[in-house]
Amino acid sequence: MKDSYQSLGLRTLEDISSIILHSHDLQETLDNIVTLVAKRMRSDVCSIYLLENDRETLVLKATRGLSKASVNRVSMKVHEGLSGLVVESRTMVMTDNAPSHPRYKYFKEAKEEKFLSFLGLPLFEHKVPIGVIVIQTRSARSFSDDEISALRTITFQIGSIIHNARLLDSIQHKEQERAWFEMELAKIRSGSEDEGTTTSRSGGKRAVTSRTLAGTAVSAGFSRGKVYILNRFSDKVITLAKVGSKSDELKKYSFALEKTKIQTIYMGKRVGDTLSEDDAAIFHTHLMILEDRSFSSKVNDLIAEGMGATRAVHDVVQYYIQAFSDMADPYLRERSADMKDIGRRIMDVIEKNDSSVITLKEKRVIVAEEIFPSDLAMLDHDKILGIVTERGNAYSHAAIMAKSLGIPAILGIKGLMAAANVKDEIIVDGTSGNIFLNPENAVIKEYARLEQDHAGRMKELEGLRDLPGITSDGVTIVLSANIGLISDVKVANLHGAEGVGLYRTEFPYMARSSFPNREEQAAIYRKILEGFPGRTVNIRTLDIGGDKGLPYFTHPHEDNPFLGWRSIRISLERQDIFKEQLAGILLASEAGNPTIMFPLISSLDEIRHIREIITSVRNELLREGHDVHGYIPLGIMIEVPAAVQIINSLVREVDYVSIGTNDLIQYTLAADRNNASVRHYYDQHHPAVLHSIKRVADAANKAGKKVSVCGEMAADPLSALLLAGMGIREFSLSAPSIPIIKQAIREHSMEECRKLARAALACRSNADVSRCLAAARGKMFADEHHSKKSIN
Ligand code: PEP
Ligand code: MG
Repeated sequence: MKDSYQSLGLRTLEDISSIILHSHDLQETLDNIVTLVAKRMRSDVCSIYLLENDRETLVLKATRGLSKASVNRVSMKVHEGLSGLVVESRTMVMTDNAPSHPRYKYFKEAKEEKFLSFLGLPLFEHKVPIGVIVIQTRSARSFSDDEISALRTITFQIGSIIHNARLLDSIQHKEQERAWFEMELAKIRSGSEDEGTTTSRSGGKRAVTSRTLAGTAVSAGFSRGKVYILNRFSDKVITLAKVGSKSDELKKYSFALEKTKIQTIYMGKRVGDTLSEDDAAIFHTHLMILEDRSFSSKVNDLIAEGMGATRAVHDVVQYYIQAFSDMADPYLRERSADMKDIGRRIMDVIEKNDSSVITLKEKRVIVAEEIFPSDLAMLDHDKILGIVTERGNAYSHAAIMAKSLGIPAILGIKGLMAAANVKDEIIVDGTSGNIFLNPENAVIKEYARLEQDHAGRMKELEGLRDLPGITSDGVTIVLSANIGLISDVKVANLHGAEGVGLYRTEFPYMARSSFPNREEQAAIYRKILEGFPGRTVNIRTLDIGGDKGLPYFTHPHEDNPFLGWRSIRISLERQDIFKEQLAGILLASEAGNPTIMFPLISSLDEIRHIREIITSVRNELLREGHDVHGYIPLGIMIEVPAAVQIINSLVREVDYVSIGTNDLIQYTLAADRNNASVRHYYDQHHPAVLHSIKRVADAANKAGKKVSVCGEMAADPLSALLLAGMGIREFSLSAPSIPIIKQAIREHSMEECRKLARAALACRSNADVSRCLAAARGKMFADEHHSKKSIN
């Protein structure tokens, strides 16, 4: 069954790529789709009808099997005909005797009277109907479930392809914009000619100087290598780019275009492999733009006028960025980011800039202004020696991800972008937070020694993998992993995680171009659950907003996003999204032992509301005949001071609580977790934070409910002992930190932990806590391997 479904479906990126690679405009795209679908579905007819701008008229745009002359001539209102019914009802319409259906409308131009069976599905883009895809057969037959599923898969994939092709087509046809383009180009050209030349980031000769800069160490470890500047294609390179003969420049462009296309297909494949196939959808859009005939003809025209290939790509990309940025629909405006990315990659290839992330030839240290979780989702992790950025800090999501990938990282390095160049050698000391650009020999030598120590220490920690996290006096502390990607499963198991204490589900949402549906989510959750047989996976529902956005989800502008519409607040208001996710989790539940956790809870009412929603989703699935795990424990995150205040009531209504210290600290101390200027206010050992945690631990323990900590605080050995002393018996942390925490636990007794907690809780000022912890660190971690090392 599965095989026939697979062979019928248009599931793989290669299928989509082949449509795009053979299409250069809207008409070709549509023609190629109907041809391929008719072939795959073995139907006599496949047609696509698209909605006009009035959203009421459907026009036949492409067909395989009906009369070609009817294309663009057959049209109907959405309240007419079977295809109109598909759009009107927004669902599938199927009949084995179309002419006898009450909504049947006969079009003599189409010559379709000989086709009896009809299967039509709506095409959506961004949840808005854009048309209908129809298959028809001569014989009266009903379509099997497999065939229907296959056509659904196809429509899901091609909705956005058609939409993008249409968009590019409309841009191409706007003569008015063309005039504007000419004007803008003239402006851009004359503007940058005045700029003069400046030193290139990618090449010009410069004196190599040693520099030491410091930032926040967010992921431990050392690395040394060459700098790779991420995503910062400077306009200056365009001014400096060498311009050859017209035919050379044309060749350069066409080579770069082909190479970029191949890279794009590869990126899609890679993201499809690590996340899910549907997550690769964003690359279909990229490929479509690269295949767009008008894009290339604009570049070629400029080259023919004597402009260099790099500059021509830059100028055309600017035009598109402007065209997309002017669009009223925020989703379409977002496409300008795709243009930037594509332009950068083509120009990188032309300039042999070697900065295409996915195809890094050698291992490099990533240097960037800022790095986002979605960047990291796309990067070739094996080639990243380290990550250093000018902005961000330990509590940003990218930092957490770097840690979970085990990549040394330092964020918030002031002056980094001005100081670093692609040819630089760099040493990253992810323990002290220092970077060394073009280091002196003495530093290199010292670094080599420390790196060796580090490697020895890592080996020692590896030996702990299969040992339990148990204190010297026999108290068990469970150590689980924080994960976000399917690839984290391997990393978690490698470091001996005893389950997943926090699965951040937003990462699979980030690398996509639209919200995943329940089946797509279930497929990802199943993979994660299967990665931890017999162990618990704590799935946290979508936690977007704040510093985590989704490119396809319009978020209203907010002055204070961290105090705004984020996390569970979005889920409870957008129940369509929330229910789809809960259904996805429930559908996957039989594959393992899931628990479901809700972020940013601030009232009892929210928990009650959530329970009602889950019950309704569960009942719906059971009615539909799905298998759902009998009982799935529900938990909440304690991240806001309100939850601490009412903790006794909250714990009574849930199965467990997990303290999200990253957010709890920021909300308790009113200090943004991503803002370097208030870093010193963001103090994880502030008495208010410690007492809040103690209060939550006491309330949960008294009620007999499990309490864990899943924020970054648990990844610091001394803090972990302190938390254990306060009554926390489970930590969830980025997997590479597990061995170090396990070692700290195994080398100390619960009595020592309690003593430490009593002493810290007795302090009244921040300074007192610092002194108390510094003294404890000296005593408890006298052994050299626990002390912070630096190569200063
Ligand atoms: C937290 O806030 O501590 C937490 C674990 O959640 P996130 O870092 O994903 O906001
Ligand atoms: Mg949080």
